Amino acid sequence: MGASFHPTPRTLMGPGPSDVHPRVLGAMGKATIGHLDPDFVALMEDIKELLRYCFKTKNTLTLPLSAPGSAAMEAAYANLLEPGDKAIVCINGVFGMRMAENVRRMGGELVTVEDEWGTPVSADKLKAALQQHPDAKIVGFVHAETSTGVCSDAKTLCALAREADCLTIVDSVTGLAGVELLVDEWGADVTYSGTQKCLSAPPGISLITFSEKAAAHVQARNTPVQSWFLDLSLLMAYWQGDGARTYHHTAPVNAMYGLHEALLMVQEEGLENSWQRHRAMHDELAKGVQDLGLSFVVDAEHRLPQLNLVRCPEGIDEAAVRKRLLQEYNLEIGAGLGAFSGKVWRIGLMGYSARLENIQLCISALRNCI
Ligand SMILES: *Cc1c(COP(=O)(O)O)cnc(C)c1O
Repeated sequence: MGASFHPTPRTLMGPGPSDVHPRVLGAMGKATIGHLDPDFVALMEDIKELLRYCFKTKNTLTLPLSAPGSAAMEAAYANLLEPGDKAIVCINGVFGMRMAENVRRMGGELVTVEDEWGTPVSADKLKAALQQHPDAKIVGFVHAETSTGVCSDAKTLCALAREADCLTIVDSVTGLAGVELLVDEWGADVTYSGTQKCLSAPPGISLITFSEKAAAHVQARNTPVQSWFLDLSLLMAYWQGDGARTYHHTAPVNAMYGLHEALLMVQEEGLENSWQRHRAMHDELAKGVQDLGLSFVVDAEHRLPQLNLVRCPEGIDEAAVRKRLLQEYNLEIGAGLGAFSGKVWRIGLMGYSARLENIQLCISALRNCI
């Protein structure tokens, strides 16, 4: 009571949030203005344009949501799915399970395609499911599974779904700016991401883009979107209204300053360079992991450079190591989830965290603690 909060600065190398760039924090400390102020409206336009750049899309319906990545997942299903609609959800980790839960709760008819954790979504299994369920309307999958460190072949999965006339929902919360993501070229219908992974901004905002086909589908719904807050048509009146924008909710103004700065930094670096940097930093981490005699869980071919599952050696208490890293090195790494609990560490190299000095700190700290 009675004292300001002063967090100890940490190096964030877990599954998110990742290190926030000082430029982003600086931007967030600027004067708060009204959320309908002409200056803020101009900022909103810039943000939408920068989002199109980062998603590699021309989609008109591209906007941030004033809530974290989980809300974007919910928005995707809430807007596309109507009660009774059949949705195929590919599950190869925690976030696929959450997609399935969204379908269940929204009254959809759920079909799951399951793959072992630590492996990518199988295109063959999806193909079989699409053949078996020609009435399916939606295919959802996670491009970059943060719980397992696996990158799935989003291009192939989107192509299969499109051939079967299904709309795709692609979770790239951890993928955006970290690995190749080509929304238009791959024909992804709804793709979403977040601020706190490879964009180096704090958690709390998400980003979402709808193809023309997905937008038309939303417009042609027979039932209203069950979530008022996430109803795309209402949100667009605020984010898109020509001239006369209408109040929907009060945008987190300062958080949007931060998002804008983070997106600008991706543009300055160049999206392809950002992918390249994550790959190069992963290679550096891999050298260190090998030097320590440790190994990765995921095959090199399917590994996400920005999220690395490293096996904890037999006889070592993985939680105790993480505790020491935090206490002695102010370094946060992540724990394993589900079947990987107690067996692996999740080392994030996302956005501003993907730097040589972080990798050196992490490897030398691990060397002292195992
Ligand atoms: C982090 C994450 C989310 C959820 O984002 P929050 O900002 O934590 O709500 C969803 N999907 C994936 C793949 C993620 O990594």
